Amino acid sequence: MIPALMPNYKRADLAFEQGEGVWLTATNGRRYLDFGAGIAVSSLGHAHPKLVKAIADQAAKVMHVSNLYRVPQAEKLAQLLVQNTFADSVLFCNSGAEANEAMVKMIRRAQFENGHPERTHILCFNGAFHGRTLGMISATGNPAYQKGFGPVVAGFDHAPFNNTNTLREAITPETAGIVVEPVQGESGIKPATREFMTALRAACDEYGLYLGFDEVQTGVGRTGRLFAHELYDVKPDIISVAKGIGGGFPLGAVLATEEVAKHLTPGSHGTTYGGNPLACSAGLAVLEEVLSPGFLEHVRTVGSAFGAMLEDVVKRSGGVFDSVRGVGLMRGLHCVPPVANVMAAILDQDLLAVGAGDNVLRLVPPLIVTEAECREACERLIRAAAALNAQTTKTQENAS
Ligand SMILES: *Cc1c(COP(=O)(O)O)cnc(C)c1O
Repeated sequence: MIPALMPNYKRADLAFEQGEGVWLTATNGRRYLDFGAGIAVSSLGHAHPKLVKAIADQAAKVMHVSNLYRVPQAEKLAQLLVQNTFADSVLFCNSGAEANEAMVKMIRRAQFENGHPERTHILCFNGAFHGRTLGMISATGNPAYQKGFGPVVAGFDHAPFNNTNTLREAITPETAGIVVEPVQGESGIKPATREFMTALRAACDEYGLYLGFDEVQTGVGRTGRLFAHELYDVKPDIISVAKGIGGGFPLGAVLATEEVAKHLTPGSHGTTYGGNPLACSAGLAVLEEVLSPGFLEHVRTVGSAFGAMLEDVVKRSGGVFDSVRGVGLMRGLHCVPPVANVMAAILDQDLLAVGAGDNVLRLVPPLIVTEAECREACERLIRAAAALNAQTTKTQENAS
């Protein structure tokens, strides 16, 4: 019989009842070191006092009012984002896929209003992940996410990621804009090259296209900058944000220049929950913390120390891991055995992480993680690798 909760996730038989910082206590009584952070969401860790207080205080006042009225919390959060980014204006929504949908709508609308109604296509890249709505499984382009859900939404083209030679061939008279993750997350922590990002901006300028970055996973400090595109000195026209921005409270956002944003006139787009007082209070608590003196520097320092520790893990893993990828606190270990086996082995060491494409183990701890906690995670990775190797030796012995 089908469970009451739909079976669309492959869940580990594990439930958590209490968190503190980078630690989670499960109902089985064990304490886990959380280097998954709810898939790069819990940016301030679990039960962060400021975030908890902001949510509790706002919930006790008023959680939700509609966008028929002013929402001061949203105005304040938007102002803070505008002050600290390329953007002139911000739209709030509830998730990453929804932010990407709005980003695509805004790119199309801006071309339409500028006298180019024929420009409707969005150029995306192989290996991308943009979410699970009908539109975004098209943008993602991975047949595994589309099977049985067709017909897929038209208007999304794909080109090889990090390839500057094939980029221009992929641009047609129907192209409206380009959407790319500065570091591909789901497909295995693959950073865009500086050449590629620069070429994207140049192509957009040359052909009159809008450049959109999907910063749903890379944004809000994850890479050691407020947004990952800052690492490349490439200015976008529009970006989508979600995951880390609410620190665990569902919140998404689209940040755009005035040129793109001004076409989203009253009535053109909307969402009931988007940017409500509770969500924006959570977002404000997170952003004020991330922008507080030393926070991003902490991410950069701990992030590069963690990168070096992971290089050492590769050497001491007895061949279980063969390389490290990523930047800041968005890291990946490429696995030699199937990543599913590695996931099981690290769970035995009370360590949480996330699988990704390309047989990569994704390590995206809360941004408040310390070097000591990174060292502890690395010790657990090495123990997990040793256990995997012992298992393999045993199976080989039994076979011979
Ligand atoms: C997770 C993710 C999404 C989808 O976000 P949801 O909140 O699950 O809809 C989109 N783009 C990227 C880069 C992501 O990592």
